Amino acid sequence: MAIEKLLIANRGEIALRIHRACHEMGIKTVAVHSTADADAMHVRLADEAICIGPPAAKDSYLNIAAIISAAEISGADAIHPGYGFLSENAQFAEIVEAHNIAFVGPKPEHIRIMGDKVEAKRTAGALGLPLVPGSDGAISDIAEAKEIAARIGYPVLIKAASGGGGRGMKVVPSEDLLETSMKQAGSEAKAAFGDDTVYMEKYLGNPRHIEFQVFGDGNGNAIHLGERDCSLQRRHQKVLEEAPSPVLSAAERDRMGEVVRKAMADMGYRGAGTIEFLWEDGEFYFIEMNTRLQVEHPVTEMITGVDLVREQIRVAEGKPLSVEQQDLRFTGHAIECRINAEDPRTFAPSPGTVTSYHVPGGMHVRVDSGLYQGYKVPPYYDSMIGKLIVYGRTREGAIMRLRRALEEYVIEGMKTTIPLHQKLLTDPDFLNGDYTIKWLEDWLAKDEQA
Ligand code: ADP
Repeated sequence: MAIEKLLIANRGEIALRIHRACHEMGIKTVAVHSTADADAMHVRLADEAICIGPPAAKDSYLNIAAIISAAEISGADAIHPGYGFLSENAQFAEIVEAHNIAFVGPKPEHIRIMGDKVEAKRTAGALGLPLVPGSDGAISDIAEAKEIAARIGYPVLIKAASGGGGRGMKVVPSEDLLETSMKQAGSEAKAAFGDDTVYMEKYLGNPRHIEFQVFGDGNGNAIHLGERDCSLQRRHQKVLEEAPSPVLSAAERDRMGEVVRKAMADMGYRGAGTIEFLWEDGEFYFIEMNTRLQVEHPVTEMITGVDLVREQIRVAEGKPLSVEQQDLRFTGHAIECRINAEDPRTFAPSPGTVTSYHVPGGMHVRVDSGLYQGYKVPPYYDSMIGKLIVYGRTREGAIMRLRRALEEYVIEGMKTTIPLHQKLLTDPDFLNGDYTIKWLEDWLAKDEQA
């Protein structure tokens, strides 16, 4: 089936990203937006726009009934959910398909499995992915918990099955604290997610976050598009991502890539997905799978030349993947900086009106952002206002280009995290690729004292 008109159930830079892929494929777009986003760039560029509710996301971008009505009224034959909002809501995917609209995403059952961390881990283990040592599924019995913790060794981590965004986790340093921590984690998870199921993992002291981009056609064919290193995080939020990882050899990439590729092929996975691992001392440990496009997907596009959104749409049309594993080449290095409307020192949100705007250009520089001069950044949503992505033949070349591009980028009218990135790009540890998931927070704390 050929998609002729696609509804974009999202906002901001990702809505624009999807619109761009559609127009390059000759597909018409329908933007849906809250009253706060009437002036947004993706709304201006879309072929049609429909207001679906007031600013609060629960009344607009999460309002399934309003989104389905907008698709029916506009005659859209597909819906792309972007990331966040409804992108990992299995029920939404089912409702979309029940209305004979193509869901540009994975099969609902795969979204459901990966959304439940205990199920996800069980499935990943069965598919041959390496797991963090821990409980075999949910645990509630203290005696059993003590036994497992003694076997894997302290510190251990108690995690909520329904957790997300790094919430619902407790590090337990020793056995005397195990019982209270488990009870606390359970009641916190109940309050936050309505589900008190917890499980246990060995706590890794100083890992890197390395994730693999995967893609399946839903019929048993799958490819991997290499890894991204997303270790630079603050409060579990990624700040800067790069591909390839500074610590992985080509042989390691090929080996692990084949493990994830085969797992996705065996699963019959459809569309884009990301398999997240913690990596320590040369070993990979599966933590979760995201069944959607990721914010940081452009770094993969830059080193592979594959347009992931185009690929998502093709697969939703029932077409085969446009590249096979043996045709894929990983060349050069790409880095993405997430630019947030925040104070670069305190991270306090700083929404405002863009009074002056100039985007960097030149060879191998990409800016994904809905900003324009005079645009008022609404205070209701995520503070990320853009992404700057650069490519270089080497990591050093990419860093030099990124410094140059950051120098050119002018956003006036609000504070942004551009100065933070500029500082980061001069740090010797960063330059050496010598960082873990703990590194950025320590670096920021040192900076605070200085
Ligand atoms: P969420 O869905 O809440 O993001 P994840 O399982 O992805 O949960 O974990 C979030 C973050 O918590 C990881 O990126 C990592 O920083 C940390 N983390 C998760 N599991 C472990 C572990 N076993 N040891 C150490 N850190 C962990």
